[in-house]
Amino acid sequence: MTHQPRRQSSQLTFNHYTSLFTYKYKAHAFVMCVKGDWAFLRSAFLMTSGWSSEAVCWMCSATKGSAGPEMAMTNLSGDWLDTMFEQDPWLTPPALSLLQGFHIKMVAPDTLHCWHIGHGRDFLASVIVHLAEAGAFGDGGVPLALKEATRSLRAYAKAHKLQQVKVPLSRESLEWHAGVYPHLNISKACQVGVVHKWLAHLAETGLIADSLIATAVWSSHMFLDTVVGGSNFLTQEAASRAHAYGMLYLLSYVRLSTTALEARQLRWFIRPKFHMFHHIVLGVQHRASKRNPHLDAVWMDEDCGKSNEAFTNYPSSAAVHPNTSTVPGGLAWEALLTLGCCQPITNSLWGSCASGLK
Ligand SMILES: [Zn+2]
Repeated sequence: MTHQPRRQSSQLTFNHYTSLFTYKYKAHAFVMCVKGDWAFLRSAFLMTSGWSSEAVCWMCSATKGSAGPEMAMTNLSGDWLDTMFEQDPWLTPPALSLLQGFHIKMVAPDTLHCWHIGHGRDFLASVIVHLAEAGAFGDGGVPLALKEATRSLRAYAKAHKLQQVKVPLSRESLEWHAGVYPHLNISKACQVGVVHKWLAHLAETGLIADSLIATAVWSSHMFLDTVVGGSNFLTQEAASRAHAYGMLYLLSYVRLSTTALEARQLRWFIRPKFHMFHHIVLGVQHRASKRNPHLDAVWMDEDCGKSNEAFTNYPSSAAVHPNTSTVPGGLAWEALLTLGCCQPITNSLWGSCASGLK
């Protein structure tokens, strides 16, 4: 009988994790952050607010407009800013909220979900539609303009050794139809990022003649560039720059959206994830620890989660026990990915982690 060599993996799998808790080791862990898509967070924390509710946010009392303009999520300096973390977003405390040291500030919106597969796709599609209409890709009509835009995008990606965007830019992929807002229908977040970099390149080379749109493209690109290239804990200087870039983008976008609305144009859509992106920008400046919000994005975690079928089998917080050592299944995976593990926790260590990461 021959023994197969034990398979080595550089990635901690779900089975590794469960065996870690079940059979061999006593693990010590503490919560640093709970992250994931909005549907997961809403389910796990029994949130009464959300994208489909009038109250949109788990961090503040912003609404879609029913509580007046001062509480509207589109009001960048509204009164909702004074309500952050004042109220719990649930009626009944969810199990995860009972974890030692947990604070709702540890539930973080992230750039992947809020920008790359969220609000950013509204923005980028509206920019491309504007450029095609303005003749930036030639005057031969929309089909030829989008064909030239696709060629330009792919040439840029090749020249900069970026992932190719396989879906051509077209009326379908931009959801450019009468009666609806444009939306970049590209599912791969990484490729959405390539489109963003390409448009920033066009802005820098002067192809985007509208100064407000060029400002929005440039400032959003600089915000993401600053946090993606930043250290785990941003310096005060980097945090201030990122905050300035982010706020410049938000102000530019709201102005574009307002102007389009007054002209009765369906452009520059504002969805609740725009508000979540606003919180990310605010957090860069207001987090005492200056923890980089890029750490909250779940690029690698989601890929890993897809390979573990069990991850998707725990959609309800009902399955979660508040004791970290016995948290089972998918929610545990999501939560524990952001735990610091395998060293005894002293009160001083716990205190420094809990206070520093909020
Ligand atoms: Zn909010």
